Amino acid sequence: MGLLDGKKALIFGVANDHSIAWGIAKALHEQGATIGFSSIAEVAERRVKPLAESIGSTFVEPCNVQNDAEIATVFEKWQAQYGTLDILVHSLAFAGREALSGKFVNTTRDQFHLALDISAYSLVALTHAALPVLHAGSSVLAMTYYASEKYVPNYNVMAVAKSALEACARYLAVELGPQGVRVNCISAGPIRTLAASGVGGFRTMHGKFKEVAPLRRTLTIEDVGNAAIWLCSDLASATTGEVLFVDGGVNVLAIAAPEEDGA
Ligand code: NAD
Repeated sequence: MGLLDGKKALIFGVANDHSIAWGIAKALHEQGATIGFSSIAEVAERRVKPLAESIGSTFVEPCNVQNDAEIATVFEKWQAQYGTLDILVHSLAFAGREALSGKFVNTTRDQFHLALDISAYSLVALTHAALPVLHAGSSVLAMTYYASEKYVPNYNVMAVAKSALEACARYLAVELGPQGVRVNCISAGPIRTLAASGVGGFRTMHGKFKEVAPLRRTLTIEDVGNAAIWLCSDLASATTGEVLFVDGGVNVLAIAAPEEDGA
């Protein structure tokens, strides 16, 4: 018996089998959920379909989240096929590589608009389009990062986008709460994915992570998937508007703890 038996989840943001969205898809599937996918057209057919098939999923729809018509089509097709939606996962973000290194003060208006549109506004757009299929007990989940709160080198405009994403999640949580729909974020520590590789210096930061993190290990998409199971299940029935850290404890550090010297 799974924690998500009978639930139906639609997951935005699988690019490949390293994607956090894929870690979440596998975890929700293992707990009994039926999974559908939506990804940009460039990867939907070639990369996402085979992954979807491997967990018995037949729903794979292309969607660029900058396009309202494409978003509407995905949810119309979902409603026609499944009627309702229990779990909506937003696991996507984008900023140009040139905006993710160098000085933040050089961020252009276009870079700012693009990053905020794809990485933050899209949560509002997807949730809005999902309203007809969401119901009491449904859960919306988005992926964020600690740079929303504290300075992290090179995250630049993506840090601003994550602050906005978390604020969007709070407003949605308050507005949808009376209908019994919960909206939460997972703040994941660094994981090597396609998106992460666009951030200047990511490899170095990722390499040093396990020396600093209280749990002294790197993170996996399975770690995030496991947290998502809880947040998307009825076990989290009184939790909304929250940011849950899945970061090995890094967010509690004001300064890295020294290595133990055996004393
Ligand atoms: P990823 O590259 O696997 O996933 C990013 C996804 O965003 C891709 O599927 C990409 O196609 C999609 N995307 C980009 N622009 C899009 C658009 N216009 N329309 C639709 N989809 C679009 O990388 P990931 O690390 O799994 O990223 C997933 C989420 O997790 C992102 O929100 C990211 O910021 C967040 N996150 C990642 C880390 C990390 O270290 N990897 C840490 C914390 C949070």
